Amino acid sequence: MAPSAYRTWSKRTLADTLAHCLQTAHAQGLARVDAQVLLMWALGRHPHDRAWLLAHDDAVLPETAAARWQAALHRRLGGEPVAYIVGEQAFYGLTLHVGPSVLVPRPDTETLVQWALETAPDQADFRCCDLGTGSGAIALALCHERPQWSITATDQSADALGVAKANAQRLGVRLRWAHGPWLAALPGERFDLIVSNPPYIAEGDPHLIALRHEPLSALAAGVDGLDDLRSLIGQAPAHLNAGAWLLLEHGHDQAQAVRVLLTQAGFTKVNSRKDLAGIERCSGGRWPNAS
Ligand code: GLN
Repeated sequence: MAPSAYRTWSKRTLADTLAHCLQTAHAQGLARVDAQVLLMWALGRHPHDRAWLLAHDDAVLPETAAARWQAALHRRLGGEPVAYIVGEQAFYGLTLHVGPSVLVPRPDTETLVQWALETAPDQADFRCCDLGTGSGAIALALCHERPQWSITATDQSADALGVAKANAQRLGVRLRWAHGPWLAALPGERFDLIVSNPPYIAEGDPHLIALRHEPLSALAAGVDGLDDLRSLIGQAPAHLNAGAWLLLEHGHDQAQAVRVLLTQAGFTKVNSRKDLAGIERCSGGRWPNAS
C-alpha cells in the first residue's frame, strides 16, 4: 500500500502520530472522546471537529502542539473537566466560555430550558429570571430563543457574573444582571417565570470528589442537598405574578421531595420532567391566580 502524503514527509516514527497519541491517552484511562477533543485543541483546531481527526489520524503531532497536548492530558487525568481545559462548552446550540468560577453547563440542564420555552410564547415584556446563572447558560439560551422576553440573571458570585456577562457580550444578547443570593438580589420584583439550576448535592456525597475542580458553592447544599431548593421555593411566591411558573433543576433522586415542597408552598400543576437519561431532573409548579 502506498504511504500517505503525511507518512512520506514525516521522518518521525509511528509514536508521534495522532492515532498513537489517542491510543496512549486511552491506555492511561482517558475517555476516547475527551482525548479527541483535547488533541484537537492542542493542535489549534476546533475542539469538536472530530471528523477531521478521524480523517488525519496518521498525521504527525507537530512539535509546537506536543507540549500543549501533554499539559492537557495531565490536567484531564488529574480530574479537571475538559471544558475548563479548552475554555468552552456547548449548551443549547451556543458556545459558552467557562472557567473554574462557574459550573460546567450540563446537557441535563437543556431539559429545563426546553420546559421554560414551552411555558410561554415570545411576547414582549414577559418577565423571566434565572437565579444562580453561573456561566449564564440558561439565561443566555432563553435570550437567544426568546429575544422579546425581558430576562434577568442573578448570581451571588461576582466572578460568575463576570463570566456570564462576557458570554452575553460575545453572543450579542442583552439582558439584565443582579448580584446577590437568590431572590434577595431582586427585592420587590415579580416575574412571569423563574428558573434555576441551584446547588443540590448533599454535603457528604462521594460524587463531589469527582467534581472537585468545580465551585463547591454551585454544587453542595446542606446535609440532604435540598437547602437551596427549600430557600428558593420559600422565597419564590412573593416574586411571582399570578399564573407564573417556577421551574427547578434538582438531583436524580430529589423529584418527589421537590414536588412535595412545591405543593406545600401552594403551587399548582406540580410536575416533573425527565432528562436525556430518563431521570426526573426538573420539577416545577404554577403560582395560582390570585383569587
Ligand atoms: N448536575 C450536576 C452533577 O451532578 C450538579 C449541578 C448542580 O448541583 N446544580 O454533576
